[in-house]
Amino acid sequence: MAPTSLELSTLGHRIRHQRISHGFTLDELGERVGVAGSQLSLIENGKREPKLSLLQAIAVATGVEVTDLLSSEPPNRRAALEIELERAQASSVFRQLGIPPVKVTKGMSDETIEAILGLHRELQRRESEAIATPEEARRANTELRLHMRTLDNYLPEIEKLAEKQLRAAGHVSGALTHRTVSIMAEQLGFELIYVNDLPHSARSVTDLENGRIYLPPASIPGGHGLRSMALQAMAHRLLGHQRPTDYADFLQQRLEINYFAASCLMPETASVAFLSQRKKERDLAVEDFRDAFGVTHEAAGMRITNLVTHHFGIPLHFLRVDGSGAISRVYENDGLPVPMDVTGAVEGQIVCRRFLARAAFEEQNRTTEHYQYTDTPAGTFWCSTQTGTTSAGEFSITVGVPFDDAKWFRGRETQKRAVSTCPDESCCRRPAASVAERWSGKAWPSARVHQHMFSPLPRGAFPGVDDGEVYAFLDRHAQG
Ligand SMILES: [Zn+2]
Repeated sequence: MAPTSLELSTLGHRIRHQRISHGFTLDELGERVGVAGSQLSLIENGKREPKLSLLQAIAVATGVEVTDLLSSEPPNRRAALEIELERAQASSVFRQLGIPPVKVTKGMSDETIEAILGLHRELQRRESEAIATPEEARRANTELRLHMRTLDNYLPEIEKLAEKQLRAAGHVSGALTHRTVSIMAEQLGFELIYVNDLPHSARSVTDLENGRIYLPPASIPGGHGLRSMALQAMAHRLLGHQRPTDYADFLQQRLEINYFAASCLMPETASVAFLSQRKKERDLAVEDFRDAFGVTHEAAGMRITNLVTHHFGIPLHFLRVDGSGAISRVYENDGLPVPMDVTGAVEGQIVCRRFLARAAFEEQNRTTEHYQYTDTPAGTFWCSTQTGTTSAGEFSITVGVPFDDAKWFRGRETQKRAVSTCPDESCCRRPAASVAERWSGKAWPSARVHQHMFSPLPRGAFPGVDDGEVYAFLDRHAQG
């Protein structure tokens, strides 16, 4: 493989370092190794790749090994600064500015280079911050959702990995216990530690040096939340994640760790066995799947989207909608007409008022699933919806299929029917003419401050996480 400019630059610096520490001028060393001083200068400046025979000659003349010259370490602090500056000045973000690069001279102090580097580092930080704008985030999110649609929302490698880790930890069947999750962590060289003072911006923090995964206190309510968080933290290690390079990378990683946690909590083999039995009985229900594996309704519903198209060929949709009707999580590959903005983003859009995802909030009985057939411009869909409440307010979880596939599901005999003509505004957005006339000019509602789903994220080493807070946290605990 051809050496990169960075490798050539480091090699040049290492040769110069040896030459100068032996007190040779360019011409003096050139004479000893049989090339002109000007040739040597090009090599030292990383502009030319030396032949191996020349490297051997330089190694002999300076009394070092060739491998020593080829090391990727800068030979000293000064060289490290110069190499970093060369890289920064070669970057596209700097070149776009049209500012001529600074030429480093022998007389230039380290402090001067440090100051210029400080500006470069800040320039790069601001550039990556700009990537995480809400628009960029929405676009990246939409692209990822569309990509997952082409894969039927199914990731076979992660399914296999989860089953392998579960087997190694001795998990046989049923709900995955906290105990088994701890064993899985131990096998990866991690101890799970529950603390009260996790940084606000982090769900968990992993101390790679001391092999610890810090999680919120074990008393947190909500069933599988803790197991899921621990599994997600482990997934970063198991999947070999590196620091995310951009927002799309960050979202991809988050999807993968969620997927891994879900395939541990609801392993593929056991889940498919459970679901195919229920399908055979024409009694598929998210609530039963949820209870069989001890997870939340949302987790069970999402997991069904991973498995049902791939294994049974059934297309479907999943919606998580909050009390105001805004979609906070979505997956569909059955053509359900969901509201979209111009960028194709669905998250944050208001779903049709006729959809059960919203109508279910008006139901008195909230302990079970509700069912409905909905006629839409894209055909008739059947769905099941369960509502719930968190500290952030109420929400509903909906899983649905096209009419023809309703036959496999519990609740298919429901008499509840609705008609939605959205995005036609007369469906549910525009008030009836009589009502509009009655109240026009006589109403003054005060808007609730909009909760932005993708507000700009603090951008440090990890998107969305405040580094300073995380490092202070680790410091505190590593000493304790
Ligand atoms: Zn509507």
